[in-house]
Amino acid sequence: MIVLKFGGTSVGNAEAMLRVGTIIRAHQDRSPVVVLSAMSGVTDALLVAAHTAARGEHEQVHHLSHALRERHHAAARQAVVEPYLRDVLQQFDAWFDTLDHILAALSLLREASPRSLDMIAAYGEKLSCALMVGVLCTQDVQAQTISAEALVRTDGNFGEAMPLMEATSTAARDRIAPLVSNGIVPVIPGFAGATAEGVTTTLGRGGSDYTATILGSALDAQEVWIYSDTDGVLTADPKIVPGARSLPHLSYAEARELSFFGAKVIHPRTVLPAIDGQFPVRVRNSFNPEFPGTTITGYGSRAGGSVKSIAYTRNVCTVTVEGSGRPGGPRVAGRALGVIERLSTDAFLTNASSPEQNLSFVLHAERAPAIIRDLKDEFADEMRRGEVRRIDVRDGLGVFAMVGESLGDTSGIGARVFGVLGRIGATVHGFAQAPSGTSFSFVVDANRLDDAVRALHEEFMP
Ligand code: ASP
Ligand code: MG
Repeated sequence: MIVLKFGGTSVGNAEAMLRVGTIIRAHQDRSPVVVLSAMSGVTDALLVAAHTAARGEHEQVHHLSHALRERHHAAARQAVVEPYLRDVLQQFDAWFDTLDHILAALSLLREASPRSLDMIAAYGEKLSCALMVGVLCTQDVQAQTISAEALVRTDGNFGEAMPLMEATSTAARDRIAPLVSNGIVPVIPGFAGATAEGVTTTLGRGGSDYTATILGSALDAQEVWIYSDTDGVLTADPKIVPGARSLPHLSYAEARELSFFGAKVIHPRTVLPAIDGQFPVRVRNSFNPEFPGTTITGYGSRAGGSVKSIAYTRNVCTVTVEGSGRPGGPRVAGRALGVIERLSTDAFLTNASSPEQNLSFVLHAERAPAIIRDLKDEFADEMRRGEVRRIDVRDGLGVFAMVGESLGDTSGIGARVFGVLGRIGATVHGFAQAPSGTSFSFVVDANRLDDAVRALHEEFMP
């Protein structure tokens, strides 16, 4: 059995869907289990509709929902033939009618809680799966969709839920295996799951990749293939570095670091189930299906110690807690980290010299207001007494990471990076090495980020 996962652009219109149908058909002898994203842009559009509803803008919500219904209808009419087309359109209408009710409820309540947002966002994947079933039937492949809520059991952390593997494995084996053994291709919505009470959750943006490896692990799949629209994982974002090349191989740790620091090609938690299950994850291109793509396994490349790829994230800030520096002052590190932890935020890295007294975190800028508020609460007494001198934020930064197994044990890399950054005149506002030695990350001014990535790509991967 293999799991084949297709991202938003791979199912973005009728033509792309037909291409995916052909890929699935070509691998039918390997008992494929299919996982899909929503059609490109649909999750964003659903979330915009939800927020618009919560502001009570009925008219606008109606337009947004209508446009989505039309887009799905049009794609179905192009890619699916009768009698399957009738079923698909009926299913669409039933779901869009429910969705309209939910949106109407939000506009009465004037709220869009994480729980409501998850319920709405999950429709994108339901819709793309119904459409793909129609496409496969049109191509003479027997296929059936199963709801993600019936398969992926999660905790109740709406918007960023964690899978509960035991319950998920049982459900996946019970519901998916019988279809596969009857020669039916299961088509499963990525991204969504449900709590034990059956309330819809999502695994976080981009989470369909994670669904694929969760199911791969639950079903003991031989491999999980993640199809997107690039030739696997590249040495850098080709939008910044036009000469970026495809990498034939990455280790799990390298893939994890790259996605953590912002490489969009796979969701950061995707490799975790693969590490547990020890199955390879291949990142492939549905628009270039002959190309082998990138294989991610437990083995680092034989030639460790070289930079494989550079990932980056824009819109980053530092949040700093600075103690008075007087002996016997408060120990801020543990408590500050506690605040970050409670807000379930991942810091890219921390900067500290005497970390008990002063600490600064590098974070997504959008997380800063909530964190500053909670830190000021946490240290209110100390600030009043002057034991904590400041808690503040510095915006306008970007972070990038150079990733490769054993970089940390290789001499001279840091010197070369600083040399390049010095030459292009980019100031370093912080840096760190992953304890595993698999990444070096640097914080620079946002307006120097692209230049820095380009110059370092040229230096390490000419
Ligand atoms: N459709 C979801 C998103 O846009 C999940 C995914 O595509 O992986 O975030
Ligand atoms: Mg994705």
